Amino acid sequence: MNRVFNFGAGPAAIPLEVLKEAQENLVDFKGEGLSIMEASHRSKMYDEVHSEALALIRELYEVPEDYDILFLQGGASMQFAMVPLNLSLGGKAQYADTGSWSTKAIKEAKIQNIDFEIVASSKDSSHNHIPKDINFSDDADYAYITSNNTIYGTQYKTFPSTKAPLVVDASSDIFSYLVDWSKIDLMFAGAQKNAGPSGVTIVIIKKELLTRVKENIPSMLRYKTHSDTNSLYNTPPTFGIYMLGLTMKWIKTQGGIKAVQKANEEKAKLLYDAIDNSDGFYVGHAQKDSRSLMNVSFNIKDKDSELEAKLVKLATNSGMIGLKGHRSIGGLRASIYNAMSFEGIKALVALMEKFASEHR
Ligand SMILES: *Cc1c(COP(=O)(O)O)cnc(C)c1O
Repeated sequence: MNRVFNFGAGPAAIPLEVLKEAQENLVDFKGEGLSIMEASHRSKMYDEVHSEALALIRELYEVPEDYDILFLQGGASMQFAMVPLNLSLGGKAQYADTGSWSTKAIKEAKIQNIDFEIVASSKDSSHNHIPKDINFSDDADYAYITSNNTIYGTQYKTFPSTKAPLVVDASSDIFSYLVDWSKIDLMFAGAQKNAGPSGVTIVIIKKELLTRVKENIPSMLRYKTHSDTNSLYNTPPTFGIYMLGLTMKWIKTQGGIKAVQKANEEKAKLLYDAIDNSDGFYVGHAQKDSRSLMNVSFNIKDKDSELEAKLVKLATNSGMIGLKGHRSIGGLRASIYNAMSFEGIKALVALMEKFASEHR
């Protein structure tokens, strides 16, 4: 077996232990004589998988009892539309625009023709920081942020305080650190970055918010439909939920989310140190106080795209894939989610140091 180090932004690396356990059970799930993929979503066999995934998320992410955990489909992008559909009361919705994903969420509010406002933006500095002192109105229908900006490599260190319900797109940093639930009213994330394969979208919603959901929106697009049916209104993405559960179990064996957070801080430090100690050969995209622990976006000095392409190619040939930066800012991006090992980071740092010394 020859596994590469996958630095891709998403779908992203999955812990080997998780893949192996799934492989072991793929054809004959725990002696049941069929694959979990073939099991009815109403069967006892699947019900255990479903309940365990929910219970592990609640336990490990310390989700309070007054929040519901939902498994939906349509990706995080579907949430861009579901949030205004379900939460808009006809008043004003407020958004912080910290990158492409926030911009896409704002586009959906625009399509629905709701009253919305962008109260903070980092657009003028190519989204290289999280704006300070974001001021959401307490009476907004909801306030919207993207906790980690996957493309630009910026991340909120604390969430803005507001009495308005705070909606958080945590697609690229869910389960990477423990959050302060007292500030959050709805969090959503596609699973494929930090929680398993694509196909399942996790929504964690304060139950109180379900009472405002209007009747005149399609059943599948109403949070309440899924809350009322334990996310079994229709066939859920059963295999994805199984993999999500295995990923949560893996987090538990790592010592829980606190331990994973500590490792994430150490892993990110190794990479940022390599950038900072390169005598200007590597230039990080994000301002230091906004740096993401999940996506490290950087350029080579003078945005030398030829050298950047050369480094990406060299990395690929050395078993490190997915390092090409997003087309909107170029350069390189190392996505270092929970599943990226220290070994992978160290291999990348060694390559970066060698490359810098040869091309300085
Ligand atoms: C990847 C990503 C999305 C889009 O997720 P899909 O599941 O592909 O719709 C949205 N927001 C953020 C922050 C992301 O990183």
